[in-house]
Amino acid sequence: MKFDTVVLGAGIVGVCIAAHLQKRGRQVALVDRKLPGNETSFGNAGLIQREGVYPYAFPRGLGTLLRYARNQSPDVRYHADAILKTAPFLWQYWRNSHPTRHAAIAKSYATLIEHCVSEHRALAAEAGASALLRPIGWMKVFRTAAAHDAETRLAERWHREYEVEFEALDAARLQQLEPDLDRTLLGGLRYPDSDSVSDPNALVTAYARYFEALGGRFFIGDADTLRDGWQVDTEAGTISASSAVVALGPWSERASTRLGYRLPLAVKRGYHMHYAPQGTARLNHPVLDAEGGYLLAPMARGIRLTTGAEIADLEAPKTPTQLAAVEPVARTLFPLGKRLDDEPWMGRRPCTADMLPIIGPAKKHPGLWFAFGHAHHGLTLGPITGRLLAEMMTGEATLVDPRPFSVERFARHG
Ligand SMILES: Cc1cc2nc3c(=O)[nH]c(=O)nc-3n(C[C@H](O)[C@H](O)[C@H](O)COP(=O)(O)OP(=O)(O)OC[C@H]3O[C@@H](n4cnc5c(N)ncnc54)[C@H](O)[C@@H]3O)c2cc1C
Repeated sequence: MKFDTVVLGAGIVGVCIAAHLQKRGRQVALVDRKLPGNETSFGNAGLIQREGVYPYAFPRGLGTLLRYARNQSPDVRYHADAILKTAPFLWQYWRNSHPTRHAAIAKSYATLIEHCVSEHRALAAEAGASALLRPIGWMKVFRTAAAHDAETRLAERWHREYEVEFEALDAARLQQLEPDLDRTLLGGLRYPDSDSVSDPNALVTAYARYFEALGGRFFIGDADTLRDGWQVDTEAGTISASSAVVALGPWSERASTRLGYRLPLAVKRGYHMHYAPQGTARLNHPVLDAEGGYLLAPMARGIRLTTGAEIADLEAPKTPTQLAAVEPVARTLFPLGKRLDDEPWMGRRPCTADMLPIIGPAKKHPGLWFAFGHAHHGLTLGPITGRLLAEMMTGEATLVDPRPFSVERFARHG
């Protein structure tokens, strides 16, 4: 079967690329070993983070580092063997998180973030999926004045530098917006310009159906069979295409390494569990317990608790100790009832050492393109990534300058 482009990976990133290419007249095959949106894009917290102009940095304060080293922190845990293997990545990540370097990275990152909500809304409208987006923002809540003050200073900075809107919430306003949250909270911050998703898997599925309605074809197949040319084996036979896109999220390192690229990539794993609310309790917004290191999001299935980062091998068995640690705290924040899932879900955030995704041509191979490394913001950045890469591949003027996201920035890595 012949196509113009084969897109490998049907997470939020691959699906958005496929839809944007098909819309521009390319004949596209989208290939995944599972149905669309069933890995990392399935289980995230559902935030489309318009405020996320600064990507999540590696903490540099000694106190925080010592706390993390003890491996008891609710927000960050690690497998000891993975720390050794990821040490070179972590070292680069730490260096890139220096405030000066982080601020420079944010300047590039913000050019993508700026379009995250508008591009989701446009794609969702075309896909008939607007009802899955909630235009109500999300919030952080605080138990101590120190955390409240520090986060408020950050929000003020993002507003000053990037006009990110925020609403400071005192305890009374917080109770008005979220009457069922713990009454002892000091207050919070709301980011009103962010959207959230009530079912991330349903959103990716809707975007994939839109791609198919435009004439695109989805195939179950194995990206490991990709060979120069470009060819890939699927259940329906071999696909040939003049261009190929690697959008395999956390599995992109395996594919790019096999093709001869050595890139500073790693994964930060995370878990979720759904809960029934007790009685008539209701959660209106996604809520981050900033000091507790977890987030509660109202989802179609129930209240989804998502955890922070776990540094571990991609395929190492699940170790949901963070979930076990934060669940009792979450129960004091909001009246959570029984667990609704048989076991915790686990996903892997695909991270680069400089916190910027890789979007653009793989220079050593004509016709090969990369789109991965969206870390904590893959759901947020899927549609703008899809648009940007499709514009580059079809030679259109691009909405965003693609240069900061080029794989060439890692050229010394091979
Ligand atoms: C706990 C948690 C909370 C998060 N919260 C948020 C949030 O609120 N907002 C946000 O923006 N982001 C969030 N994220 C991050 C976000 O989920 C990811 O950045 C995003 O889903 C990555 O999308 P992707 O398409 O790159 O990867 P994926 O969704 O993982 O897609 C990659 C695809 O490649 C396929 N694949 C892999 N290997 C092969 C192969 N050999 N052959 C064929 N197919 C293959 C997989 O099946 C998969 O479908 C969160 C992540 C976690 C873990």
